[in-house]
Amino acid sequence: MAGRRGWKRSLTTGSPAMRDLLRKRRMWRGAGDLRDSYDVVIVGGGAHGLATAYYLGQLGVRNVAVLEQGYIGSGAAGRNTTILRSNYKTPEGARFYDASLKLYERLSLELGFNLLFSQCGHLTLAHSDRAMLVMANRAEVNRINGIDSRLVYTDEVKRLCPALNVSPDVTYPIQGALYHPPGGIIRHDAVVWGFARGADRAGVEIHPYTEVTGLEVADGRVQGVHTNRGHVRAGQVVSAVAGWSTLVCAMAGVELPITTHILQACVTEPVKPLLDVVIVSSQMHAYLSQSDRGEFVMGAEIEPWTTYRMKGTLNFLQELSRHTLELFPQLQYARVLRSWAGLCDISPDYSPILGVTEVENFHVSAGWGTYGFKAAPIVGKTMAQLVATGRTPDLIAPFTLQRFYEDRLVSELGAAAVSH
Ligand SMILES: Cc1cc2nc3c(=O)[nH]c(=O)nc-3n(C[C@H](O)[C@H](O)[C@H](O)COP(=O)(O)OP(=O)(O)OC[C@H]3O[C@@H](n4cnc5c(N)ncnc54)[C@H](O)[C@@H]3O)c2cc1C
Repeated sequence: MAGRRGWKRSLTTGSPAMRDLLRKRRMWRGAGDLRDSYDVVIVGGGAHGLATAYYLGQLGVRNVAVLEQGYIGSGAAGRNTTILRSNYKTPEGARFYDASLKLYERLSLELGFNLLFSQCGHLTLAHSDRAMLVMANRAEVNRINGIDSRLVYTDEVKRLCPALNVSPDVTYPIQGALYHPPGGIIRHDAVVWGFARGADRAGVEIHPYTEVTGLEVADGRVQGVHTNRGHVRAGQVVSAVAGWSTLVCAMAGVELPITTHILQACVTEPVKPLLDVVIVSSQMHAYLSQSDRGEFVMGAEIEPWTTYRMKGTLNFLQELSRHTLELFPQLQYARVLRSWAGLCDISPDYSPILGVTEVENFHVSAGWGTYGFKAAPIVGKTMAQLVATGRTPDLIAPFTLQRFYEDRLVSELGAAAVSH
């Protein structure tokens, strides 16, 4: 077998058949030079930016570039805990996330790439009478919108998750849960790579290590972007930078009502299969799933301070371990393998900010907080429609930036955040 250096050399010097084979094995083309001008520039190579590029390709829009300051998927797309669900609280939110889940259901087939989507079900635990009422209300909203979601009591929780400790002799006894069978987990980096490959095949240019350092605006209209690799003219610009949204939008003079916080997560060493459903507890600020490799993937709530510094804290590990052991005492000897942090862009109503801004042809996808990964396909699809047609799709009309000036908030408080 050729060594690493030999493999690289054969990309340029091997036989035509070998060169063809190697080209086919690449996920996407290597980045070439930046062109002077693109019809559409997408800032951010996370799941949202790449999904937008992919769906633009499907709509036949050519001359599109994705500019990413790091490597593809280096932001929250590669750091999240991969929970997908659609059991949101508002009709606007429930409809929007349900459309995304439906796209996810057939995405592996569409992209020709296994995203390892496991619809294992999602349980949001209730530890008080009040929480049971809130869950009952959410189940009603969900069902009215055709979403499979219902209130279950402790016996059914135990049936769905036999390993869970439902004893009343704990700090937060479980009274029941909101059960959402279509929810589950997916392989997050596969989603990023699948969209990148699909976009690349449609002719989109993907430029990693290309930081947007400024936006050129004249006569109220975006004209281009400044990057660490030079200036590029752009017909339209989409900001899909999640935790960095306030910084990038400020370059165009667009102010967002968003604060950036870190969210932390960790995994244990692999243990034997124990958990076949996603467990979330808002009260205990904990959510857990088990990966195909056997690792428990766990996370908590955002840290209350604003920062762009992705450093973890000991307090997170202590608190999360305490709560996890109350739910799963069997894990007392499991070692935590690694932990990490990512940026979250929190909006005042815990709903996203999507679509047009006051700067013509400058569009934004932001306000994704701790829950934006599940929205990537529908964001990509609707943002691509907006760019291609100039019209805001009905599904994202409730989430425009304008709503904060018109007092039309879409409050997902209590159904977003730690619930993912
Ligand atoms: C620990 C953690 C757990 C989470 N768990 C879940 C979950 O279970 N389910 C869920 O739905 N969501 C979850 N989320 C939230 C979710 O990951 C994000 O909301 C979502 O990934 C954001 O969209 P994105 O993928 O495009 O953003 P990102 O992946 O962050 O992409 C933005 C990209 O923009 C790039 N960028 C920034 N500035 C510039 C610039 N100036 N020039 C060029 N590029 C730039 C960044 O490098 C980054 O790669 C979690 C987040 C974290 C941190």
